[in-house]
Amino acid sequence: MSLTETDRELIASAIEAISRRYRNDWQEVGAALLTRSGRRFVGVNLDAYLGRMAVCAEAVALGQVITQLGEAGIETIVAVRHPKPHETDREVRVVSPCGACRELIFDYDRGARVLVPGPDGVEGVRISELLPNKYSRERVL
Ligand SMILES: [Zn+2]
Repeated sequence: MSLTETDRELIASAIEAISRRYRNDWQEVGAALLTRSGRRFVGVNLDAYLGRMAVCAEAVALGQVITQLGEAGIETIVAVRHPKPHETDREVRVVSPCGACRELIFDYDRGARVLVPGPDGVEGVRISELLPNKYSRERVL
């Protein structure tokens, strides 16, 4: 799936969110989410001294949606990573969601589209493509 103008705006929103709130070792990833009703939400990750308390940017963005709208449909979601101060590549780039976020995104909208880095640049893929054979209570073999 190629990128639409809406996808580019979503990426720009994620970049803006993390660029505004970047804090080395604490806030390094931004996410933007387009709901099925066409509203856009952003979030940044919450790192923590106690690592298991850390929360990904995608989860924060989804939490905003649930809190403010009470709906969870995810049309498209994207995460971007801000470089650390010592990195020479200063570009904020699209990153793939971690395994836990793949589970979360799938649980809230199994038809969600995710923007990920591909061989020819950023591309849109279905969450089911990123999480084949997902664990499910519904599927008993
Ligand atoms: Zn994650």
